[in-house]
Amino acid sequence: MMDAIGSQRALNYDVKLLWEYPQADAPAVDFEEPSSFKNRTGQSVRETIGLAQLKEPTVVRHFVRLSTKNYGIDNGFFPLGSCTMKHNPRLNEKTARMAGFAHIHPEQPVETVQGALALMYDLQKTLGEVTGLPAVSLAPAAGAHGELAGMMVIRRAHEAAGNTHKTVVLCPDSAHGTNPATAVTCGYTVRTIDTKGTGRLTVEAFKEALGDGKDVAGMMVTNPNTCGLFEREILEIVDLLHKAGGYFYCDGANFNALVGSIRPGDFGVDVMHLNLHKTFSTPHGGGGPGCGPICVTNELAAFLPVPHVVKQDDETYALERHRDTSLGRMKGFHGQFGMVVRAMTYILSHGADGLKQVSQDAVLSANYILSQLKSLYHVPYEGPCMHECLLTDKRQKEKGVTTLDIAKGLVEYGIHPMTVYFPLTASGAMLIEPTETESKEEIDRFIAIMKMFAQKVEAGDTDIFHEWPVSAPRRRLDEVKAAREPKLKYAK
Ligand SMILES: *Cc1c(COP(=O)(O)O)cnc(C)c1O
Repeated sequence: MMDAIGSQRALNYDVKLLWEYPQADAPAVDFEEPSSFKNRTGQSVRETIGLAQLKEPTVVRHFVRLSTKNYGIDNGFFPLGSCTMKHNPRLNEKTARMAGFAHIHPEQPVETVQGALALMYDLQKTLGEVTGLPAVSLAPAAGAHGELAGMMVIRRAHEAAGNTHKTVVLCPDSAHGTNPATAVTCGYTVRTIDTKGTGRLTVEAFKEALGDGKDVAGMMVTNPNTCGLFEREILEIVDLLHKAGGYFYCDGANFNALVGSIRPGDFGVDVMHLNLHKTFSTPHGGGGPGCGPICVTNELAAFLPVPHVVKQDDETYALERHRDTSLGRMKGFHGQFGMVVRAMTYILSHGADGLKQVSQDAVLSANYILSQLKSLYHVPYEGPCMHECLLTDKRQKEKGVTTLDIAKGLVEYGIHPMTVYFPLTASGAMLIEPTETESKEEIDRFIAIMKMFAQKVEAGDTDIFHEWPVSAPRRRLDEVKAAREPKLKYAK
């Protein structure tokens, strides 16, 4: 009797696998057997691909119930540091779905897609304007893909100049993992700049890594950096780098802290990628594909990927499909066009003043959180912060409560955890990025929860921290085991 009643309570459904439904082999559609069947390809015929056979209402309920278990920016606060989980304005979706954008094909004659090319051209110009790096390619499909394209541009430039002895790329120890990975993928050796527990680059540390600079092809730095701090000595550092003949690659994932306020080209950046899905609000994570345009100086323009949208003397738009100096293609056709439409919509709906407001409000929100929590949590590097703030579990750990426990506690309270254990330079890191689109009410709730956690730990009330989450559909999972030994096949 109890089995028949099951575990479902209110809207909290326990969703089975498709194969576990009792009716899983009842055919959903009764097609007639084909009267004559000829195997014309000469290949062996597969009788079944083993899909569960279910009726439509069962399938619909299955997937709708699963979808209600997703947590995303549309459900609640998502302060995942370095990821800029801001609201995706619905206006972006509306324009991306307009027939003139959504129903065209990249192989169409260019005369029939002038509007789409004009939009791409305008976005190239606009991104060039906001970064101060006028030559732009929209081709890369994500931030990491943009890094690869950008470092390939740098390598091409060195090759063109005969600088084959330049084999080293400098990265700070706090770098996002994709930076050194990209440099290595491009055939470079990485030399680490030791920030010596200060959270920032110093001229001194940079000089140490640079050496005589003869072998240095470039430097990859995120600014503001992965600790949420602006690199104060960047001008002097870049000057030394340029004198040694190296290029400055800026990882632009944190551009939300700067957009509309300062132009990276003005602090010496030669190449930079932008994550349209972070700064310019196109959906990401489970929500959609990314787009990672690269912006470079005019000097490096010749090496950008093709195809590239150009405006001709008669004011029409064309595609430059081949350029001898180009690094080639990064992507099929022209990249993630839907993201381009969304980002342009976002930029136009904000305007220049609106974009400036974005970065100012993002920085304000993060500093508000920092100011409210700094007396209760250890702050590893002196502030103020930019668009994200960094705390650690140093004080709580003394009482047996770690960053992981705090993250699980946030799950209990219906908030997506902040980024945990990154950057690696701060032990037990909690990197919190509220973004400008979160209301003060939401931010205050997060602060109140974090304060309550710290007070519980102070009072020695720590048992519950190891239990959380208790209200979620699943408790603590063995995430490491799931990643190391994934079960990819269902076996009854
Ligand atoms: C997000 C991020 C990246 C990578 O971008 P993807 O679009 O996820 O590939 C690189 N560097 C930093 C600092 C980031 O935050």
